[in-house]
Amino acid sequence: MRIIFHEAFHDSGYTDDRYDNAAEPGRLVGILQSLREEGRYSFEEPLPAEPADLLRGHSAEYVASVEAKPRLYAMASLAAGGALLAAERAAQGEPTFAVVRPPGHHASRASAWGRCTFGNVALALLRLRDAGRIRSALLCDFDQHTGDGTLDLLRAWPEARVFNGYGNDAAEYVSVLEAHLKSAPQVDIVAVSAGFDGYVHDVGRKLTTDSYAEIGRLLKAYAFRLGHQRRFAVLEGGYYQPDLGRNVLAFCKGFE
Ligand SMILES: [Zn+2]
Repeated sequence: MRIIFHEAFHDSGYTDDRYDNAAEPGRLVGILQSLREEGRYSFEEPLPAEPADLLRGHSAEYVASVEAKPRLYAMASLAAGGALLAAERAAQGEPTFAVVRPPGHHASRASAWGRCTFGNVALALLRLRDAGRIRSALLCDFDQHTGDGTLDLLRAWPEARVFNGYGNDAAEYVSVLEAHLKSAPQVDIVAVSAGFDGYVHDVGRKLTTDSYAEIGRLLKAYAFRLGHQRRFAVLEGGYYQPDLGRNVLAFCKGFE
């Protein structure tokens, strides 16, 4: 399993929004500590996404509006680049998790909200498709919030299916995902918007550390049933810092 990360993501000063909880200082520290302590994962640094990769999903006006904020643009294009690299490694057969910020699943073609800037995961799938390397995908978004931006960016591509999870408690959530994957079609790659804010101590007040391990296992098993095993995940939300590292690690151990 490969981890995509760049030290620049620790810099929490990329946004001028003082209520941006995705940009909280130290938010990624516990994640990196847990993943490094595991000792078995290889780490790779991404390059920023090129404008052409951003323009696959976003309007020129929107990209220009982000470019007008150089610090945000630098961070957000690096986050998108992290997702592109994760998808690339997955397409080559290596399961991958990208630890990036800002998150991306609330980024639509010409606007964004919810601490997101560019649609990281959707952009990564669009690039693989445009390169002729995949024709279909299943994207599982287990963040507490629906990935409306992802749905917008993938709207014109019916072979890219998006699953946004629901359920009143952890057991129901996992069983709904399991049932969905059981009847899910053959696709060329499995992508994951991995948000950890559905956690029992986070805003969703529902999922547990074991839930994330089980979600990872179900997605891995699905990728194996597809035959090619191609799968990657990219960090979205998740704000309860004391347990964020162990939750990401639990998911990775199931998913790897
Ligand atoms: Zn969220």
